[in-house]
Amino acid sequence: MLINGEWLTDTPTFSVFNPATGEEIGHVADGTATDAMRAIDAASAALPAWVSETAYARSALLYRAHHLMLERQHELAELMTKEQGKPLKASMNEVKYAADFLLWFAEEAKRVYGETIPSARSDQRFLVQKQAVGVVAAVTPWNYPISMLTRKLGPALAAGCTVALKPAESTPLCAIAVFKILEEAGLPPGVANLVTASDPKPIGEVFCTHPAVRKLTFTGSTAVGKHLAQACAPQLKRVSMELGGHAPFIVYDDADPVHAAKGVSLVKFLNTGQACISPNRIFVQRRILDPFLETLQARVSGMQAGDGMDPANSIGPLINESAIEKVDRQVQDAINHGATLLAGGSRLTENGLDQGCFYGATLLTDVTPEMVIYREETFGPVAAVVPFDDEDDVIAMANDTDYGLAAYIYTQNLARALRTFEQLQFGIIGINDINPTSAAAPFGGMKESGLGREGAREGIEEYLETKLGGLSI
Ligand code: ADP
Repeated sequence: MLINGEWLTDTPTFSVFNPATGEEIGHVADGTATDAMRAIDAASAALPAWVSETAYARSALLYRAHHLMLERQHELAELMTKEQGKPLKASMNEVKYAADFLLWFAEEAKRVYGETIPSARSDQRFLVQKQAVGVVAAVTPWNYPISMLTRKLGPALAAGCTVALKPAESTPLCAIAVFKILEEAGLPPGVANLVTASDPKPIGEVFCTHPAVRKLTFTGSTAVGKHLAQACAPQLKRVSMELGGHAPFIVYDDADPVHAAKGVSLVKFLNTGQACISPNRIFVQRRILDPFLETLQARVSGMQAGDGMDPANSIGPLINESAIEKVDRQVQDAINHGATLLAGGSRLTENGLDQGCFYGATLLTDVTPEMVIYREETFGPVAAVVPFDDEDDVIAMANDTDYGLAAYIYTQNLARALRTFEQLQFGIIGINDINPTSAAAPFGGMKESGLGREGAREGIEEYLETKLGGLSI
């Protein structure tokens, strides 16, 4: 834990495990509610000095951190693969993506513009300034254990906020590595504080109720996000929520089925399907279903699971045993309700995989709305195909979910692409594109997928208050 510029070592600890091998790879401080309070108190004490730094000074810290993160890309990626499980190449990409947020917000720090507004009174002037929200509490997930930190720390620090952050209990080592970089880049004591903990609840409770916290930013499941938003409501703390998703992937029959199937095979199995923008329902127009499934089946059957440190493996482990159980429950439920299994469908234990949490890359077709997988987020390596006939039907089916994060459309017809884009109730839509994310682009969901946006110009707004001055002259 890093509180007020000091790494705490004389505390109880908890162990961190490699999900591919089950090996213990480290142990970290096990923070308590008292530590969370100290972290917030430190952030509170550091706020006045940090907020009065120039934007240029805050920006310089982020530039240095960006530089250091890229310098350590390989080392950080290896740590991520050992702690979280994703293949090394994917970890390398994530570290780059994480560094992008530091760079982007180093730039945005200098563009926090206010405005003047003409008044109806000749003796009056209106002046609008943007000011830092204040102390921010942040809670981050394990699936993107470095980039989800920089996506919050970058804009918060750029805006002039100070932070107390709790990372996920499965991936505290990556969080420690990020904070070491910030420290090396010149982070003043107390400006960003890290509380690692095996039990998130007491920390969350303090984050949501401590009067000094002005904003909570959270990335994780919808259930926990709702709980935290409710806990923040009595003090009307501002909240940003990046929650779950149930992304539709629509393939119209004018699209190239082979190209679309390749796209699905790439995006669906990224991070072993443990991404909130992972396609959960793959809608394929019936006329091209056969060639689509043929390509996807060949690709999915050829995916090799194993330790992400071996470049031959494209599928890493799931994060823990309960993730395996959830995925298997969804797959068995779908099969019991009439889905057809075209690949995978079970846990992998052969060839030394029995020590880790591996599930075979799975392809199901004939998935219907009666099945659990049609509504519940999967977070695993399962591609669920739903055949459809008609454009209006597929848009209604795609929108028939409480989630509204990401969606994908494959078509060569421009009018159809635009019609579908406009009607889908999702915050991020890839059109013939499987990676509609970037530090420069707003990320966030509609409906129960969240509140607010991260990255882009909007990202820093989340950490700013608008202050109006009315002047009589
Ligand atoms: P997932 O299902 O993806 O693990 P969670 O929402 O459980 O997602 O976890 C995301 C983050 O939320 C993690 O940092 C986790 O420790 C934290 N978290 C889970 N439950 C709580 C809680 N009651 N209070 C605060 N943080 C929590």
